Amino acid sequence: MPDERVAVTLNRAGLDRKRSLRLRDVVVPEAGLRWHLEPLARDADAVCHRVKLVWPMARDEAPLSSLSYPPGRVLSVVPPISFRFRFYPSPEQEPLLRRTIGCTRLVFNKALADRSAAWVNEKKSLSYVMQSAQLTTWKKTPELAFLNEVSCVPLQQALRHVDQAFRNFFAKCTSYPAFKKKKCYGGSAEFTQRAFRYDAATQTLTLAKMSAPLDVRWSRPLPPGVLPTTVTVSLDAAGRWHVSLLCEDGRIVLPQLPNAVGIDVGVTSLVTLSTGEKEPNPRHDERLMARKKLLQQRLARAQKGSKNREKTRRKLARLNAHIADCRRDHLHKLSTRRVRENQTIVVEDLSVKNMVSNRRLARVIYDAGWSALFRMLTYKSAWYGRDLVKIDRSHPSSKRCSCCGHVLDRLPLDVRYWTCPACGVEHDRDVNAARNILAAGLAVTACGPDVRQRILWSMLQLGVKQENPSVKKGISAL
Ligand SMILES: [Zn+2]
Repeated sequence: MPDERVAVTLNRAGLDRKRSLRLRDVVVPEAGLRWHLEPLARDADAVCHRVKLVWPMARDEAPLSSLSYPPGRVLSVVPPISFRFRFYPSPEQEPLLRRTIGCTRLVFNKALADRSAAWVNEKKSLSYVMQSAQLTTWKKTPELAFLNEVSCVPLQQALRHVDQAFRNFFAKCTSYPAFKKKKCYGGSAEFTQRAFRYDAATQTLTLAKMSAPLDVRWSRPLPPGVLPTTVTVSLDAAGRWHVSLLCEDGRIVLPQLPNAVGIDVGVTSLVTLSTGEKEPNPRHDERLMARKKLLQQRLARAQKGSKNREKTRRKLARLNAHIADCRRDHLHKLSTRRVRENQTIVVEDLSVKNMVSNRRLARVIYDAGWSALFRMLTYKSAWYGRDLVKIDRSHPSSKRCSCCGHVLDRLPLDVRYWTCPACGVEHDRDVNAARNILAAGLAVTACGPDVRQRILWSMLQLGVKQENPSVKKGISAL
């Protein structure tokens, strides 16, 4: 009888995608089979994470011994594809939706409080099944009887979200789960397949406890044959309603291309490609900063609970939503184009989280949206069958000459152009960095992930300093 559990290693790219997958399933492409993912431990160097793959099928269906996944193998994770649309609820639907969101938040917060209390007081951990039984008893009490007025599915999903939040926390992927606030004037409710009806022929979406379909603005059709498995209804702070349709297998694998590109992200140019192409940083936040500041000031001065305050809050929320929309739209266009045009995309594995701990740099980095860009490139590469390679951030991409390999001792951030003392070639700082990133990425794909460690090791032996600390020092140059 084959062993039912195998330990494999996921690289960081896999882990990032796994997190967006909410730790659910991994697809092993060669075998076309599904596995359950269980985090085991985090390695000391934080580059690799071990996961336990549990065979989900009946034992006689496909014996595990026919597949060999040696430890250290990198699996690719295919994230489900989701489509987001704006919708306008009818006067009958809106109160029900608002109530559903409110009940979902209440159940989430109650379940989280119970779990924390059970652990602190009795050193007991509550499972999803136990909390699901609790939910039934809550519904029977007179003070929580209103939970019966909404569909039970979003409430069950809220319990699942608490469960997942704790799993992620114990796997050291996230911090301790936080309560959902009403203060942010929004929220979401998740409906699984049994709580909605989607008709592909007429393109209508009807949620549980509703008689009429939602008035969805279908800005684009779902790919043929693709059906949603989960529907999330959300309300944002600007008062807009969106519905997100999650489809498990909506992937479109594009034909293979010979192109490979290295991408360097920055502040002056949002991205610089190894081909020499540059994409300017639109700086959306900065563009509308004056108006934002004015509204923030007005909000701070308005009397609490007054109508004017509420009006200003709504205006500010709408402005923030507008800025976020502009940024997202730009990043989507940018990332889709690069993924469509190239087979291999190489990026530097920047720790945006650490960089934003520097307050002066934080705003420009948030405004540029590096994290969102990396996330989009990651999941779009997986959808379209492209290869995304993340190279170690300690790679000296800026200081190394892409022609001869000469490494400069130092290169301040305000130096945008430099001439290599060894071979005399003149470099644009960002283009040179992008070329080095591409070269390092191609080395990783040719020699396997181990090369990453070897590059790191050879650099340590050469006494090459990491570039990261200097980034923090030279902020004024940005
Ligand atoms: Zn040179």
